[in-house]
Amino acid sequence: MIELERGTDRAARLEAIAAEVRVCTNCRLHETRTLAVPGEGSPETEVVFVGEGPGYNEDRQGRPFVGRAGALLGKFLGSLGWRREDVFITNIVKCRPPENRDPELDEIAACAPYLRRQLEVLDPALVVTLGRHSLGRFMPGARISKAHGTLGPVDPATGAANALAFALYHPAAALRTPDIERTSYQDVARIPAALLEARTRREAPGAPPNTEPESPVATPEPLPDPSYMAAADPAAPDDQLTLF
Ligand code: URA
Ligand code: SF4
Repeated sequence: MIELERGTDRAARLEAIAAEVRVCTNCRLHETRTLAVPGEGSPETEVVFVGEGPGYNEDRQGRPFVGRAGALLGKFLGSLGWRREDVFITNIVKCRPPENRDPELDEIAACAPYLRRQLEVLDPALVVTLGRHSLGRFMPGARISKAHGTLGPVDPATGAANALAFALYHPAAALRTPDIERTSYQDVARIPAALLEARTRREAPGAPPNTEPESPVATPEPLPDPSYMAAADPAAPDDQLTLF
């Protein structure tokens, strides 16, 4: 009952933020957008995925990651036995940059309070960054070529005060480069172990996070070995790690 009330409260607070985003004019991106894309997912999730900004399809539908990159993100989640609705998916900027150009620093700064407030409501254990703009916000100074597949501490100013960040390449980069797609599946297979580590850290505040990378997944196959979690953590159930 308390869980249910908490979820309802969070849903209402997230919807209030989304309503502000939909009519926001705080930066120039509002001039060219069709629909703003606040983000969506489970209000009670432990895991938030943060992309860069809406593309063509997202701008038309007002929903995050609904184009080709979104289909690949769905496959990544599916490889863990997770569904989109189990996590929360959003972006650094909520309106599409024209021609999908990179968001500019002043646009990122103008939009940052929305993501910060979403993360304060969600209080996730794990923030999964998609691509270098998202990485730059949660792990300033990190380089995607080195940070992908690893966990790092999160600056509490992002709103995710009790979270660790886990870096992935952007799914659009994986669509362009088969090597990055293969690597991304291997990185994704480490998300459950990252979540366990993040949970442990929350339960023992003050303990330094273990941000050492786990040993790499042995098989370079596109789909991760389902026994990986059981092998990586003998305490974990031999089933897939469930959220909540
Ligand atoms: N790419 C992003 O970074 N975000 C989306 O929502 C879609 C594509
Ligand atoms: Fe507002 Fe963010 Fe859209 Fe800019 S990108 S208009 S700050 S919602």
